[in-house]
Amino acid sequence: MPVPIVAGNWKMHTSVTEGLRLALELVEGLDGVSGVEKVICPPFVSLEAVAGVLRGTSVKLGAQNMHHEVQGAYTGEVAPGMLAGLCEYVLLGHSERRSHFAETDEAVNLKVKAAFRAGLCPIVCVGETLEQRESGKAAEVVAGQVRGALRGLHNIMDLVIAYEPVWAIGTGVAATPETASEVMGGVILPTLQEMYTRDPAAQVRLLYGGSVSPGNVESFARLESVHGALVGGASLRPDQFVEIARIVVGAKSGG
Ligand code: PEP
Repeated sequence: MPVPIVAGNWKMHTSVTEGLRLALELVEGLDGVSGVEKVICPPFVSLEAVAGVLRGTSVKLGAQNMHHEVQGAYTGEVAPGMLAGLCEYVLLGHSERRSHFAETDEAVNLKVKAAFRAGLCPIVCVGETLEQRESGKAAEVVAGQVRGALRGLHNIMDLVIAYEPVWAIGTGVAATPETASEVMGGVILPTLQEMYTRDPAAQVRLLYGGSVSPGNVESFARLESVHGALVGGASLRPDQFVEIARIVVGAKSGG
């Protein structure tokens, strides 16, 4: 049974000072929660300061994005090597990057490969829009995103995939556990099984994301195909994020 994981995506919120304060509060609550990997993903400018707060604690650091090249004339971008040593995780292909910054499956694929080369664990985000769901294309879209992100990768050790239906992100309307299970157990896992001979269920952790809260996380965490949650809004609320981590531990340990 892989170690469950809860990851918090701060998005473009918090100044460095606010981020430091938030990290301190999160560590205070999260450090004592065991049986789950806890990851926070602040904005780039806060990574170094937050890394200082997390040093010596059980809370891990992730970035929200990166460029795939090692270095070069890419103004405003951040290279994998700049994150390695600071972070263990990196979010890739978040729907906000796909929709606002035209990130394609090909771009996500290059980033996933670059993350592995740099020793970072990618948290690859996939998920369909409302229009795609309503036109019956959710399974096809999600399977395509998984295949696209992992194209050419023969080894998928230590990979995290977050299923985040776009219509559930930041809306307060989470997917139902049935929908999450249909996609995660019924589409993502079989797609991985089709692509890899080694049992992906033993190597890949699947997270549900999209309006996760202390009130709904248990229903997702109880699903066999779910290993935790990717949390946006509630990760900026220390009380809520800590509670989410505790609930995931309880649900995954059968409590
Ligand atoms: C996210 O940003 O990945 C996310 C799931 O956001 P929220 O929890 O706010 O829906």
